[in-house]
Formats: sequence, structure tokens, C-alpha cells
Amino acid sequence: MIVVFRHFFYKNYVGLSLWPFIILKEDSLKDDAVLINHERIHLKQQRELLILPFYLLYVSEWLLRTILYMDSYRAYQNISFEREAYANEADMQYLSKRKIFGFLNYLMR
Ligand SMILES: [Zn+2]
Repeated sequence: MIVVFRHFFYKNYVGLSLWPFIILKEDSLKDDAVLINHERIHLKQQRELLILPFYLLYVSEWLLRTILYMDSYRAYQNISFEREAYANEADMQYLSKRKIFGFLNYLMR
């Protein structure tokens, strides 16, 4: 389910998924197939981890990588959930062929 919330976003972030919602900064972003696919990959990750553990893991991995890299944006980009979503966001068939816990393939690099 896609909703638009203009005043919800930090810096240049434009989309966010909070199961079962995809929250966008602007209405026009609904037509951005790659962005929507990226957020749908996150919804799938959230559902398979039963929602709450997803957020705990997401934040823990981000904190750990922030310490590791001393760079919070680089840490964000390298969270396994983000790596999986960025690597496959342009592949519109990805979600139909993805295996369960697919983000684990992106944990180490
Ligand atoms: Zn993302």
C-alpha cells in the first residue's frame, strides 16, 4: 500500500517502507518503478523477519557498520538489506524469483 507524506523525510531520502506501507515523499514517485521495487524488496524482507526483528537487525547492522566505517551514510549503503535492494531494484522480476532470506547473500562482501 503506497502513501504520500511530504514532511516525513530527512535530507535526500524520498522513500521508506514500514510494513505494510511504502511511504513516498511525493505523488509523482509512484511512477518510479525502480524506487517502488526497491521498497517492495524491503517489505518482503520485513515480512519474512516478522517485522519487528527486521528493524532491530537493520538498526544494529547500521550502528555496527557506522563504527566500522566511521561514516553513517556508507554504513547505510552497506546494510545487507540495502545491498540486496540496491543490487536488484532494477530487476522487476527479482521478487518473484528471490529465495527466502535473500539478504543473507549480501551480509558479507
Ligand atoms: Zn532501501
